[in-house]
Amino acid sequence: MAEILSPSARRGVLLVLSSPSGAGKSTISRMLLKSDDGIEMSVSATTRPMRPGEVDGRDYHFVDTPRFEAMVAGGEFLEWAHVFDRRYGTPRAPVEAVLAQGRDVLFDIDWQGTQQLHAKMRDDLVRVFILPPSMEELARRLNARGTDSPEVIAGRMNRAAAEISHWAEYDYVLINDDAERCLAEVRSILAAERVRRARRTGLVDFVRSLIG
Ligand code: 5GP
Repeated sequence: MAEILSPSARRGVLLVLSSPSGAGKSTISRMLLKSDDGIEMSVSATTRPMRPGEVDGRDYHFVDTPRFEAMVAGGEFLEWAHVFDRRYGTPRAPVEAVLAQGRDVLFDIDWQGTQQLHAKMRDDLVRVFILPPSMEELARRLNARGTDSPEVIAGRMNRAAAEISHWAEYDYVLINDDAERCLAEVRSILAAERVRRARRTGLVDFVRSLIG
């Protein structure tokens, strides 16, 4: 006899948060991970240098270019892309491990990576784009961070418009003028997506047991 699944059994959600740098995505991600035990961050690999305060293995796996290329060649990435002339990629194995536990995965990746995940795993993917309230506020936040050089900040302002131009490729678009409210919206999206019928692998047996 086939194993009876728990009524709450479901496929994991792959929740992507994209935004231009400085729109508050990292803050929202941190707050979400703190307030929800069911979701884990996907830690990307990158060839960019570590910023002050970052921890290898927590914020990113900081690797050199030959190592990154070896990971690409070995098929170790679910997706990878060039961003700001550096390489960023999502290691496949940890994502699969979290999904196998029936938990959800949070991705802080750009539009290129989102497109690649959409091509491979669209049924499990939920794409959220976070907009800044204005470009002035975005510039203010990038300056306030104080960890990057003016050239890097200017480059990111130029790239912000390009990133924002992909907003229509996302399922949900939020405006982050208040981090708490934006977090509440992300949590609502996650709550709803978790009970979407197509994800609920345990329902068929459960409904059969209800109505015979
Ligand atoms: P930062 O260098 O500020 O941490 O990140 C720069 C950009 O790279 C952000 O837009 C971030 O979402 C994106 N990014 C970070 N990790 C990945 C990844 O694994 N894949 C892709 N495609 N983009 C990533």
